[in-house]
Amino acid sequence: MVKVGIMICDRNRKCTGNKCFRSVIERDGAFRKYKDEPVEVVGWMACGGCPGERLEFAPADMKKYGAEVIYLASCYLAGYPPCPYIKDHKTYIENYVGLPVVIGTHPMPQNYIDTHEKAGDWEGCEEYLKEITNDPEGAHKYDSTRPDYTESLKKK
Ligand code: SF4
Repeated sequence: MVKVGIMICDRNRKCTGNKCFRSVIERDGAFRKYKDEPVEVVGWMACGGCPGERLEFAPADMKKYGAEVIYLASCYLAGYPPCPYIKDHKTYIENYVGLPVVIGTHPMPQNYIDTHEKAGDWEGCEEYLKEITNDPEGAHKYDSTRPDYTESLKKK
């Protein structure tokens, strides 16, 4: 059993979390490695806004509730521009809070991959994108702009 806390970009503070939770349940994206292991999400919250207003409190709180790993959600990289504070958040959580950090949750949807490639704003993010852009099937599966997306959610 692994217990995780998920922090999202505050620009998505009203996000329902469906893609992140789907990726936990279906073991996609950064959660593929837990294929044969139960995963419990102990906390879910937004960073509080640039440069990370809740950074000092949220990860420590999630640790109190048992989190063993903090996930910075895929929206950190999906937004335009990607979060400029990823490295700072990762460093603070790992060094001060004392929990490992994984960047990314669900596979990056194909529509975001296409747009960022055109915009050219993922330069320097390659290391962070590894876990969530190496699966073309996942990219297609999580692209909610495709016409058959809603229908695909019904097929299991
Ligand atoms: S860009 Fe980064 S610091 Fe700003 S709200 Fe999003 S995750 Fe937080």
